Amino acid sequence: MSPYKTIETQDKSSDVVWHQASVSHLERVAANGHQGAVLWFTGLSGSGKSTVANAVDKMLHDLGCKSYVLDGDNVRHGLNGDLGFSDSDRVENIRRIGEVAKLFVDAGLLVSTAFISPFAADRQMVRHLLKDKPFIEVFIDTPLEVCEQRDPKGLYKKARAGEIKQFTGIDSAYESPKTPEIHVKTATQDVQQSAQQVVDYLRSKQLITQV
Ligand code: ADP
Repeated sequence: MSPYKTIETQDKSSDVVWHQASVSHLERVAANGHQGAVLWFTGLSGSGKSTVANAVDKMLHDLGCKSYVLDGDNVRHGLNGDLGFSDSDRVENIRRIGEVAKLFVDAGLLVSTAFISPFAADRQMVRHLLKDKPFIEVFIDTPLEVCEQRDPKGLYKKARAGEIKQFTGIDSAYESPKTPEIHVKTATQDVQQSAQQVVDYLRSKQLITQV
């Protein structure tokens, strides 16, 4: 059973039957010419998740692949606009993203998600949710000092001033992935090199064959 599935959601969906699609996942994959997969970017705020994910998206698009980016801040404006930053809301935030990402993968897309997702258990839950579909953890490993120096949204400054509570890396933990599929170090390589590293990984696993 999925660790996400609460008693409440089980009850709500017990009479709902999954409708078999007329176009199968394999037919979609064949039409796209590549596999569907989730690239799950994780890292501190300001580490470069959105920047690298968007650079990967652009490279994939230019290669003729079907791809998309689910960005943390954007999703919080819409789908997850009702969620805050309590522990339970953070879990629900990740659960919904995981479910949406799963639909994108079923549609045959290479979907990149850019969320801090600080807790290993939550990332593990999404991996579990994807079942046999590729879940690729991309650790955007940037030292806190570098993120804080970049501070692209001025959030570290606010967190240091006590204006934002429970800020990851300051007064809330970030659990680094132990065995990410892709380990990106943005302090020592530029955005294009990082994006290329991700695209090279997809090729090495034959998830894409486009050149
Ligand atoms: P996150 O999505 O992890 O919060 P962002 O991608 O929004 O991070 O911000 C990262 C910031 O760091 C951007 O302003 C980006 O231009 C900058 N940056 C500087 N060097 C790099 C690099 N080598 N890789 C990625 N981002 C970098």
